[in-house]
Amino acid sequence: LVSREHHPDRSVIRVGGVPIGPDTLTIIAGPCAVESAEQTLRAAWMAKAAGAALLRGGAFKPRTSPYSYQGLGEEGLRILAGVRAETGMPVVTEVIDPGHVDLVASYADMLQVGARNMQNFALLQAVGSAGRPVLLKRGFSATVEEWLSAAEYIAQRGNLDIVLCERGIRTFENATRNTLDISAVPVAQRLSHLPVIVDPSHSGGRRDLVLPLTRAAIAVGADGLIIDVHPEPTAARCDGDQALVDADIRQLAEVASVLPPVM
Ligand code: PEP
Repeated sequence: LVSREHHPDRSVIRVGGVPIGPDTLTIIAGPCAVESAEQTLRAAWMAKAAGAALLRGGAFKPRTSPYSYQGLGEEGLRILAGVRAETGMPVVTEVIDPGHVDLVASYADMLQVGARNMQNFALLQAVGSAGRPVLLKRGFSATVEEWLSAAEYIAQRGNLDIVLCERGIRTFENATRNTLDISAVPVAQRLSHLPVIVDPSHSGGRRDLVLPLTRAAIAVGADGLIIDVHPEPTAARCDGDQALVDADIRQLAEVASVLPPVM
């Protein structure tokens, strides 16, 4: 279902009316985690100023350590819905539990399945039945074929509104948090008709790498980007080191303006 073999044209997926697909560069940006209404709103205005059409923000956070900030849960979803009402930006947020899919879908415009859950088959089937577009991140140890098989689980439930996201894989290199597998973008685009976007924030794990990796993603023909921004990254409860700050926003907007922006 997700293969290009029987579907030679590349698909355009719409999220709250915003297209993601060939010929556009759709930017999704916002805080890694929703921490408060004020922080999320400020981050959303930063995202908009950078040219983002969609707002990201985690209410349910899949943290490696159980002692790390786990997110605000449903309160975070309410905050996202409030910020959407104020800014007009449709919301992309992660779901980590099959039992929460209906709840998250009742607030979100797009459901994110994160790297750690790429092969959570019960979750994939649940989001496949939720009636919302899905952003499927690549697992950090998954091959492109495994990633596309995960997408197939979603598609099999009748939902073909899937966007793939390359977010870096685990290699021997430890200078960066993950290694952005830039070749996965054209490889996945050739094998599948689904749009492929890049996360330059979680792949590098460092603010200074976000713009260079964004340029690389655009150069290989990514259909979009998902980027962390934060009004006060030193106070961030999650991944502050990779969040863009106010001073970076104009440059991101310039870098991203090589293709027609989607607003
Ligand atoms: C995220 O986008 O908030 C996230 C946790 O990313 P990943 O699943 O790629 O680690």
